[in-house]
Parts: sequence; C-alpha cells; structure tokens
Amino acid sequence: MLETKMATQLLYLTDFTLLSCQAQVVEVTAYEDKPAIILDQTVFYPQGGGQPADQGFIVVADSAGQKARFRVEMVRFADGLVHHIGVFEEGELAAGAQVKCEVDAQRRGLNSRNHSAGHVVDMAVHALGLGWIPGKGYHFPEGPYVEYAKSGDAPLDRVALREALAKKCNELIVRDAETRALFITKEKMATVCHHVPDYIPEGKPARVILFGDFGVPCGGTHVARLRDIGQMTIRKIKPSSGGKIKVGYNVVG
Ligand SMILES: [Zn+2]
Repeated sequence: MLETKMATQLLYLTDFTLLSCQAQVVEVTAYEDKPAIILDQTVFYPQGGGQPADQGFIVVADSAGQKARFRVEMVRFADGLVHHIGVFEEGELAAGAQVKCEVDAQRRGLNSRNHSAGHVVDMAVHALGLGWIPGKGYHFPEGPYVEYAKSGDAPLDRVALREALAKKCNELIVRDAETRALFITKEKMATVCHHVPDYIPEGKPARVILFGDFGVPCGGTHVARLRDIGQMTIRKIKPSSGGKIKVGYNVVG
C-alpha cells in the first residue's frame, strides 16, 4: 500500500519536556467540521492514553510580512497524522508555511504531573507487594484514577491501604527519581517493566518511561523528575466491575 502522507513526527515522544518547535504546514484541512492543521512535526500531545490534549498556538515563524495565529483547542491523532484543531485568530496558513508551535506550558505541566502521579501509584502498589496488575489510567485533572486487577478475593482494609499508598507515593516523590524515555521491543520490556500489557505490538520498538529503574510502557508526557509532581493524596480506593479496584488520586501543591 502506498502511503499518501508522511506520518507526523512526534517530538513529544523523544523529549516530553519540549514545549515549542518549528514546523512546516503539510495541510490545512478540517476535523469534524472544525479547521485543522497538519504539520510535518509537532510538540502538541494528542488526547489519548488517559491524558488530555495539549492546547496552545501555531504562529507564523518568520517576520517576512505574513501574519497568522491559530489557537489550538484540541489535538487528535488519526492515521499517523496529528490534527491540530481550533480557530484562526489572525490571518491564515497554507501548505508549505513555516510555523512555530507553542504549547500552553501550565496546562501541559499539570497534565504531566497527573500522568506521572498515576504511575507513582503503580510504583507504590508494587513496593507494597500488593500484586495488583495495572490496567486503565485516567489522568485528567478532574478526578484522576488508576485501575488494577487484583488477585484473590480477600477483603481489603481500604482505610489502611489508602493511608499506606499515600505514604508510599509521597516517599517515592521525595526520592526524586529522574524520568527518561526508552524505545525497546516488547521482548526487552520485560527486563525493565513489571507488567507488559498484551496490546503492545511485538517486534517493533515501543516506548517505555523509566522512573528511576521502574519501567512503564507509556506514550504520555511526564515530569522530568518525581519531585516536580509536588505532593499526592489518595482520594479513594473502591472496587469496580469485573473484580477490579480503582485508586483515585490527586496532585497538590
Ligand atoms: Zn502512562
């Protein structure tokens, strides 16, 4: 099959702390009836993996008389292409234009803190020897949680667990491990990750985030080091459908 368009280069995958970049407009199109811009490369994180999309601006990069400013309200990934969806606040853009991408740093910062914090819960669950298998993560600022499949059906002392998890999460944050991205095959993931989900494709490199030496297969954005999370609270621990358990958490400070 012939590729009609080159896939967008995802700069946030290799450097999740990068907040701006130069890019070239590949196409100005529409996504669900809203103006959408496709670029050759981007730092904008598209919604997915339980993390909200970045917002920000795409502006004309040079001062050669042309002026354009596009406010990015939503970012979606489809068919290898990142769609920057929003409104033109000034001017317009056409294929070939050189632009600058500027991600809203405050929004990204909060999203990264919430996403990393979700994996700190994974680390705490592991450190406490609970034997729960990580599943879905929801890292939005409103009510973030992570879900686990627990082994056995022994009753849980949820009050004690909530306290122990909160304590362990904040201990891990104070230890301040650095985060970094690795691109390795599923077969190699087992050497750095305690759990490798079935959906990871075999044979081609996929991304792992290392929090110190604790690896998690993940495509999201993260803090550079765990202290950047601030502090964490465990909001609730409650059973959910299918014998799963949901751990609600918050980042504070
Ligand atoms: Zn993740």
